[in-house]
Amino acid sequence: MGYFPHPVEIEYKSARDALRMRFSDDHISVYPTPYLRGYCPCAHCQGHSGGPPKWQPITAHRQVEVIDVQQVGNYALTITWGDGHDSGIYSFNKLREMCPCPECMPEGLPEEERSVQADS
Ligand SMILES: [Zn+2]
Ligand SMILES: [Zn+2]
Repeated sequence: MGYFPHPVEIEYKSARDALRMRFSDDHISVYPTPYLRGYCPCAHCQGHSGGPPKWQPITAHRQVEVIDVQQVGNYALTITWGDGHDSGIYSFNKLREMCPCPECMPEGLPEEERSVQADS
């Protein structure tokens, strides 16, 4: 068994549009909420076709508002979004893989994955 870092601190109240996490190895990840929501791993958002996860465009600001974050067992989180959606289970591994910091993702996130398409 390898060692998998897990989040020890999760902060989503200080920034309106980002969720910040400190992992057990002291790595800090800051996820723009449109990025997290767009990659919601639930079957409703991703479909049943398999293949790599697809980013789903955000069409309303409430879709990217974080209302609550709950831990699932000792391996994942669920996020309750402002539109009531909460079925995505974000595993710690997956979250760490998704980390958009310059060290983990030197190419950076595409602009669209950081923003809300709607103007509401
Ligand atoms: Zn979903
Ligand atoms: Zn990182």
